[in-house]
Amino acid sequence: MNEGWLFCRCTSVLVVGFLCSGLLWGCSQRTATQQPRSLPKRSLASEPEIKVRLFDLAQFSCDLGAPSTITRFGGKPYAGALTISCAPTKGGTSWVLQRGTKVLAKQRSTVLNLTSSEPMTINKEVFPTRTLSMKIEGDRLEVVGTFALETYLPGVLQRELFAKWDLDTYKAQAVAARSFSLVKMQDRRGKFWHVRASPSDQAFVGGELRPIALEAVKATKGQVLTWGDQILCTYYSSCCGGRPARASDTFAADSNAIAPLSGQGRPCPCQKSGRYRWTAEVSGKSLGDRVGLQTIRSIKAIQSNPWGRATKMQLRDVKGSVVELSPGRLRAHLTALGSRVFSGWILKSQYRKGVLTLEGAGFGHGVGLCQYGAEARARDGVAWREILALSYPGAKIATHWGP
Ligand SMILES: [Zn+2]
Repeated sequence: MNEGWLFCRCTSVLVVGFLCSGLLWGCSQRTATQQPRSLPKRSLASEPEIKVRLFDLAQFSCDLGAPSTITRFGGKPYAGALTISCAPTKGGTSWVLQRGTKVLAKQRSTVLNLTSSEPMTINKEVFPTRTLSMKIEGDRLEVVGTFALETYLPGVLQRELFAKWDLDTYKAQAVAARSFSLVKMQDRRGKFWHVRASPSDQAFVGGELRPIALEAVKATKGQVLTWGDQILCTYYSSCCGGRPARASDTFAADSNAIAPLSGQGRPCPCQKSGRYRWTAEVSGKSLGDRVGLQTIRSIKAIQSNPWGRATKMQLRDVKGSVVELSPGRLRAHLTALGSRVFSGWILKSQYRKGVLTLEGAGFGHGVGLCQYGAEARARDGVAWREILALSYPGAKIATHWGP
């Protein structure tokens, strides 16, 4: 969560207007679906629209915005600096439209759909969409924007990659993000949204976009990665720690056990990431409590994939009892204990006075495109198509809608 975001539990306020501001994040990693899927076929002739969950309650701001025009609220058009608040009531949700403190209209429904004559500004951030849907889900308010896919992608690149990175890195990321989006649209067809605007799917930002992000999306318009007659689920992460992971070791779905998601033997040149190697600490007793053992004295890899990345970790307690965990599960335990780890791939551990000091590798799941590795290769003169070939061995590039 960023400074400036405000958490509101009972009543949330949305401001729609024209102001423009961008919030920059660094690179990110994402989780993946755990369900088998039927992948989208290679037959998309026209550019689809993607539904992006822009905000939920925990990320919601009450900042004021500048004038805008909403053309649907109870069927009427409204203009100006508008505030929309909502509160769950016995009969459903009541939505309130205000200008300043003056209530313009109220409406009761579960989902509120708004269209605008201009790109929507939400909490001072302009998004290239004219259609918003809002819904109370449990104790959260979800705000979803609908985007033409090619309009959405530059905002992904803007937040996933650093400003000074190479154009070829941007182009490789554009194709990976486009393919990943299409698979998520298939996985979540019929749902309220397809992707979250966060690292748990793909990071995304509105506001002013860097020319390189726009250029990379334009230059690769409609291009996706395919395997057989299907679009590839192009997992990607920040830094693989030098050794790629296999999707079949990392995610459960049967559809992940294919060559393009299995990495390849040559080491990945992602040493420039600050997370290539890292250290963290955790209480041996707390970790033991979580995994049903006594105080943990050591953690080590006991199984690796053919490229040398750990696929199974062993934890040993002071009595010599052991438990085996996947790196992902171990990472979840360590994160829950407040340990600052970036993957579950622990290279070494040292136990002293109740504290385990860990040396780990990489940031994220390590499957598919490694963003720092892609950047190092691009700086070394490797073109984006070759970067994708190294990241997803055997996958082909196909063009759907395009120039
Ligand atoms: Zn890497």
